[in-house]
Parts: sequence; structure tokens; C-alpha cells
Amino acid sequence: MAKNSSILVGISTPNQILGALVPDQLCVGQQTYPPIVSPCQSDGYTSLESLSEKDKPWDKHRKNADIIAGYYRQGGMDSHADRVSFCSQLLEFKVIPDRRAGQQKLKLASTKFCRVRHCPICQWRRSLQWKARAYENLPKVMEDYPEGRWVFLTLTMKNCLLDELRGTLTHLNQSFRRLSQLKAFPGIGWIKSVEITRGRDGKSAHPHLHCLILLKDSYYKEDYLSKADWIALWKQCLRVDYCPVLDVKAIHAESSPVGLIAEILKYQCKESDMTASAEWFLGYVKQVHGTRAVGVGGVLREYFRELEEEPEDLIGHDEDATDENEGQSLYFRWNRKIKKYVMAQVTLHGVVLQVPSRDYENTE
Ligand SMILES: [Zn+2]
Repeated sequence: MAKNSSILVGISTPNQILGALVPDQLCVGQQTYPPIVSPCQSDGYTSLESLSEKDKPWDKHRKNADIIAGYYRQGGMDSHADRVSFCSQLLEFKVIPDRRAGQQKLKLASTKFCRVRHCPICQWRRSLQWKARAYENLPKVMEDYPEGRWVFLTLTMKNCLLDELRGTLTHLNQSFRRLSQLKAFPGIGWIKSVEITRGRDGKSAHPHLHCLILLKDSYYKEDYLSKADWIALWKQCLRVDYCPVLDVKAIHAESSPVGLIAEILKYQCKESDMTASAEWFLGYVKQVHGTRAVGVGGVLREYFRELEEEPEDLIGHDEDATDENEGQSLYFRWNRKIKKYVMAQVTLHGVVLQVPSRDYENTE
């Protein structure tokens, strides 16, 4: 006990911890960067969220991953349960300069992702990488189609029973194909994604499509479609006798569709729906198995084809990353008990500088 207390005293003062773990300042060329400061140090551990604002989502996604791993276990899918359970347990970050803010920041350097499709962490990282790819390629489209205008369409249909989701998704995608082949369809290229929300009754699902469409030059001159026109076309392609709910958002000539790309590439099913019920989640997983979340068509295929594939890299790069300070790593381990990533180790060029008390490691 006495031994543990002395370790705790040694690491319980924020400045002392950070003085020991992070250099006072970092000098890169002419610029110096102040140390990272933890505003909320508590109970003798240093959490990831207290050191890095932008890395706060890790705790939420890892917490949901524990719930999803439990659901897979309940469904007898033990290998998926194990993989999601061990996903990203230990994160290695480098301390690098943040040139814009004039401070130091953390940059994810390595971890082990499970790559299970519905793992909340992998789903989040995949979405970040897709967005990064899309942001890189969008300026090329704007350059090649300088007069190009865009609309953002949300195409829905009536809810279906969860058991019928698979067939409904096929029907939804076929209906979109019919729409894109109509003579009246004013798009020359599109990115579309399927989103599925959980019905309020807990038994049904609400699948719908988000589509970002690059329009023909003639759209605002002779091929314009009012909302009522869009609904009529969608109804015809869905082959239903009711008026489906549809939303159409025009994007101003001066605006870029960049914000809507994030809307399309966010997730297939939001985490609060996935974690709401084991029964619904397991039914959903079975129904969407082997289906594709994102599709790209028309002239946009040559720019965004890679959005249809699993990104190889789930870590991501950082334009600020340099070699100057690459020696310093901070390791954070997931703590199931307190539901936070907690600093576990600091190394400089592979040499361990300090290992905090074991008191805060997982006991479960
Ligand atoms: Zn994962």
C-alpha cells in the first residue's frame, strides 16, 4: 500500500506528470511550442480526453464497442465478439507540433483495428478516411466541371420490418438505378449512401438513401425539377402507390458541396441505434451482410471509386507530422471500469520513461 501511495504521489500533480512526460517546449526551426496541458487531472491518472480535445470521441466509440462486443457474444458470434472486444485497446500517439495553433498536439501513430464492419471504432475511422479521400478529390471535380452545380437528395420509402430489410435494400437500390436511367434524370454523376435507422417500435427499420448529384449544365435552364417533380419521379421508380418522403437541397453556385460529403460518408447506422437493443442489432447485422453502404456512379466514378472499398489505412496522416519529434510516444490503454483511455506508458526513442501505477489498469 505504501509503495502504491508513493507512486500515486509521484504522478498526481498535473505539471509534474506533464513535466516528466512531455518536454517543456518543443523547438522546430524558428518556432517553439508550449507543452500540452491537461486541464482536468483526476484520481491519479491521465486520460486521453483531458490531453487532447480532438481525441475525445475515442472514449465514446470504445464504450459502444464494448456494448457491440457483448451483443455479438449474445448472438453466438464469438469471433466477432473477441475481435471487437480487443479492437484499439492500446493507442500509441506521437507528440507533434500543431503549426496553426502554435502548440503541441497528439497524433495517432499505431493501434490494432479489428476491421469488423459494425465495430463502432472501425466504422468511425473508416468514415474519417473516406471523408479525407473525398476532400482530396473534390477540388479535381470542381476544376474539371467549373460550372457544375449540385443537389443533395434524400430518398426514402416506408419503414419495413427488420426481417425484410435485405429485400427492401435491394428494392431501394434498384429504384435508384431506374431513377438514374430516366431521360428526365438531370444528374451526370452521383455519390450515394444507404442509411438505416431503427424504427421507434424496435422491430422495424427505416432505410433511405443520401445522394449528392452533379447536375447537367442545362439543369437550371431547361431540365429543372421542382420538389413535386422529384417526388413524382421517385414514386414512379419505387413503383409504389403512395407519395414517398423526399428531400432536395440545392447547393448555391458559389458554395462547395464539401459539407454534404460528410453527411453522406458518416455511418450506415448511428451508434445510438446499434447499441439500443441486442435483438435489433443482431437482426440488422444479418440483413445487411454483404450489402454495400456507398455507391458512386456516372462521371464521378473516376474520382471517387475508392469510396466503395474498405480503406486500407484507418490511422490517417497529418500534414503537420514531421520527423523532429518522432521519438516521443504516449500510450493510452482502454479502461473498461472507468470507460476512458488512460495513459499507460511514455517512451522516448523506444525507452520507457515512466509507467504509472497499476492501480488504474483494468481489473475486469
Ligand atoms: Zn474495430
